[in-house]
Amino acid sequence: MKAPAFAYVKPASLENAFELLQNPNAKVLAGGQSLIPSLNMRLSEPELLVDITGLPGLSGISLQGSSIRVGALTTHAQIEKSAEIKKHLPLLAQAVPHVAHAAIRNRGTLGGSLALADPAAEYPACAVALEAVFVLKNKTAERRVKASAFFKGLFETDLKPGELLMAAEFPIATKSDRSVFLELARRHGDYAIVGLAAHNDRFVFLGAGDRPVLFSFRKNLEEAKQTLKKDLKPPSDLYNDSATKLHLAGVLLERAWNTITA
Ligand SMILES: Cc1cc2nc3c(=O)[nH]c(=O)nc-3n(C[C@H](O)[C@H](O)[C@H](O)COP(=O)(O)OP(=O)(O)OC[C@H]3O[C@@H](n4cnc5c(N)ncnc54)[C@H](O)[C@@H]3O)c2cc1C
Repeated sequence: MKAPAFAYVKPASLENAFELLQNPNAKVLAGGQSLIPSLNMRLSEPELLVDITGLPGLSGISLQGSSIRVGALTTHAQIEKSAEIKKHLPLLAQAVPHVAHAAIRNRGTLGGSLALADPAAEYPACAVALEAVFVLKNKTAERRVKASAFFKGLFETDLKPGELLMAAEFPIATKSDRSVFLELARRHGDYAIVGLAAHNDRFVFLGAGDRPVLFSFRKNLEEAKQTLKKDLKPPSDLYNDSATKLHLAGVLLERAWNTITA
């Protein structure tokens, strides 16, 4: 199918972008790897696409005190190649090769993935596990929101009309931190059936709810497995029913637990 007709503007300044985003029927375009297919499938019909890829200050990975700031326009490929991410954010480094395929990783962005809030996506779960903070900005003000409060539901976030996600700030891992990212997918690069981003005692499941699902497990594995069985209610998808996903989540929990506590 073809996308419906829309106007397209690529502003060169944030001021101009925020002006354009005053239009309630405008939509932000970043890497286009999710938005363009959704237009082609007529799942959304915006009047105007505001291409933010020419805006200054939205790209790049920088060490800022005890955190790493990743600009919203930083691509998956840039994250994958970053020595800073490898060194300071091992969870994200383990997760990024699971995000789609190389061609999509070359264009897709961190901000696009977080703003889309697909419950089976890798970054949202990592951000919740790492207790990242997101920087959101509109025409007049900037605010910071914890990742755990940002994801509100299925493809739903705390972003307000006219707001841009500018960056995510991830606390850097200390020597004693333990992280592991695991996922099961039909083929490598597909969205996860179920996945798990674990950082110390924070275990965050993806593909297992309408948003990243956080468990804090502190005691023993048996208790953690029982809690999971009782409290995790993964929705069925086209290929797997809820019971299968719950079983797979238990498998990932055990593998992650054994790695974290080894
Ligand atoms: C075949 C295929 C497989 C994929 N597999 C995976 C996968 O396994 N895991 C995964 O995580 N993703 C996967 N993706 C999605 C991919 O990671 C996308 O790149 C990502 O979800 C969106 O990033 P984008 O920059 O392309 O955003 P776009 O498609 O441009 O935008 C996505 C949404 O976010 C909004 N948006 C974008 N940037 C901002 C911003 N800075 N502020 C506010 N709103 C913004 C847009 O308005 C739009 O609603 C896959 C995509 C395809 C086509």
